[in-house]
Amino acid sequence: MPNVETLRREGFAETVRTWLEENVPHRWRTERGALSEDESDEIRHEWDRQLFRGGLAGLSLPKEFGGQGLGVAEEVIFADLAGRAQAPDGLARIGRILTAPTLISHGTQYQLERYLPRILSGDEIWCQGFSEPDAGSDLAGVRCNAVKVDGGYRVTGRKIWTSFARLADRCLLLAQTDPAAPRHKNLTMFLLDMKQPGISISPIRQASGISHFAEVQFENVFVADDDRVANDGDGWKVAMTVLANERGGVEAASRYVELRADMDLLSQSIGHLPEYQRQLAELDTRVELIRWQTLKSIDFDPQSTVFFRSAAILKVSWSELLQEIAALGIETMNADTADHWRFQYLETRAASIYSGSNEIQRNIIAERILGLPR
Ligand SMILES: Cc1cc2nc3c(=O)[nH]c(=O)nc-3n(C[C@H](O)[C@H](O)[C@H](O)COP(=O)(O)OP(=O)(O)OC[C@H]3O[C@@H](n4cnc5c(N)ncnc54)[C@H](O)[C@@H]3O)c2cc1C
Repeated sequence: MPNVETLRREGFAETVRTWLEENVPHRWRTERGALSEDESDEIRHEWDRQLFRGGLAGLSLPKEFGGQGLGVAEEVIFADLAGRAQAPDGLARIGRILTAPTLISHGTQYQLERYLPRILSGDEIWCQGFSEPDAGSDLAGVRCNAVKVDGGYRVTGRKIWTSFARLADRCLLLAQTDPAAPRHKNLTMFLLDMKQPGISISPIRQASGISHFAEVQFENVFVADDDRVANDGDGWKVAMTVLANERGGVEAASRYVELRADMDLLSQSIGHLPEYQRQLAELDTRVELIRWQTLKSIDFDPQSTVFFRSAAILKVSWSELLQEIAALGIETMNADTADHWRFQYLETRAASIYSGSNEIQRNIIAERILGLPR
């Protein structure tokens, strides 16, 4: 007999399935590969608001902070069904997946009350200002500096590869506050207002044709003391929470949306051809393994070593699978699917770089998980 928990999850899945059927935008389902960047942004932004109105934003965030108070298991159920329904991915992903849980771990009451409701409603878009021209994999080398002034800090420096910068209202910014302090103790995290003078944003055009990210220059930009996360010098610790969430269960669950949608598209277009059936079955099994491994990883505390190990392995697995599916898509594309696969093939090149490059993840797996010699 199914237990209460199984029945509750089945009830949740049924509600989500019905909601998705009624709400996934038709244009996204049928012609997303052919939409202009502005059209796509508009649909994705509206999707964030639809999720909020439908009571589906922040599923695993506590109710007291405006979330739905459910578990990460419900995030995975939602991701599974959203992927199968060809749903869009909202623009609020950095706010929801990175900023919100980081503020729950390290934020003040003021920050929780000020930012969480706007993140969940989809009204505020966030970007993540970590990488710099000389600090990507080596994040501890961040040089963008924040100098203490009366009531806050003045930020000057350059960030690069900043996704959503063009649209963002706020930036989760990692800056150097004490150049004399040792590495890992010289950084501080801020919640910086992106709509103020002194910020110039230069979009970077990707191979796929869109400008998903940008280079951002800060020139003496103010950020208040109230918008500093934790203490001066705690930036590295806060950044590690952000990265754990960036590679962890909810992020992997959201990537599963894209994997499932692409896998289904591929199966629909070439599933009837006997010569591809073995390859499709293998890829589909690996897509489902991502779901299974994500579900397993969420049983562990995000601070635990097991969660850390599983996040590094998941990151490598989902990114390479996205690329392999797109490669088969482009090899077998037809007039109906060509726009989608051309776009997806170029876009997924970046999956093995963002959220920590796969070379670095493999170093982590080798040295810190398997204990191999350096
Ligand atoms: C689509 C996309 C979106 C992004 N969005 C954001 C964002 O919103 N915010 C943000 O802050 N950043 C973002 N990034 C940046 C991303 O985090 C960095 O690109 C990534 O951390 C790698 O840093 P890098 O580009 O400086 O490469 P580098 O660190 O210069 O590395 C270059 C190459 O050398 C390899 N390498 C470096 N060190 C080692 C080592 N020790 N051992 C083995 N190999 C090594 C790397 O794996 C890589 O292949 C985004 C990147 C992409 C592609």
